[in-house]
Amino acid sequence: MGPFIDSHCHLTHDRLAGQVQAVLDRAARAGVVTMICASSDLAESRRSQQLARLCDRVYFTAGLGPHEAAEAGEKYLAALEALAGDPRCVALGECGLDYHYDFSPRPVQQRVFAEQLALARRLGQKVVVHTREALADTLAIVRDSGLDAREVVFHSFTEPLPGAQAVLDTGAMIGLSGIVTFARSDPLRRVAAAVPADRLLIETDSPYLSPEPVREMKTNEPANVVHVASCLAGARGVSCQELAERTTHNARRFFDLGISSAPGIP
Ligand SMILES: [Zn+2]
Repeated sequence: MGPFIDSHCHLTHDRLAGQVQAVLDRAARAGVVTMICASSDLAESRRSQQLARLCDRVYFTAGLGPHEAAEAGEKYLAALEALAGDPRCVALGECGLDYHYDFSPRPVQQRVFAEQLALARRLGQKVVVHTREALADTLAIVRDSGLDAREVVFHSFTEPLPGAQAVLDTGAMIGLSGIVTFARSDPLRRVAAAVPADRLLIETDSPYLSPEPVREMKTNEPANVVHVASCLAGARGVSCQELAERTTHNARRFFDLGISSAPGIP
């Protein structure tokens, strides 16, 4: 089965970092050929860079998330620009807005998000966006940035259909995580069924969000993206194999992974 790409995981998180080789081995056995190691502060961005340089199945993103926005020093943009110059860096992010936790003041979240979008626009980089209970402001800031929204993925997306449609109308991609597998997630499965095939990415967001049927696993890992794919295939009425091939193609195209894919898929 596969190949699968886990388009968003935190492989250098404390809960995975001590067992990365075993995690990568289990991913390989599950058919997960590539992982995008996401980052939400500068230290994590640098750890992700190190890992991506060591492992050719891992690429990385560099960014400052909404929780960490208040820690943004004067030089964080220069640091991100340097990280983005690494050929293994495939996007800026994650960055965005989180009004659920409000760990950073909202005006600071908004400024740091807008600054990273402006940097991405200048560098021609993709952007991984985190948004929670803040969709209207997130969409407004993306629009005002002037960045082509087709360069953006809304990762671990959880909004029901009207919000999903607003995102899709901009041209952005939608990444779905294990949340889609949860019993209470019927609205999200309706979103999963509605996303156009060429706009869909799959992810674990590990070590968080273990999917059903392994939800009791305290530490999620990329091998479990197979369960996300299986759930999405069911919601969309396609085979898991078809879902795997399509989302793998999408991830390679979106992140410009430079790997040729199955012929016949545009
Ligand atoms: Zn994340």
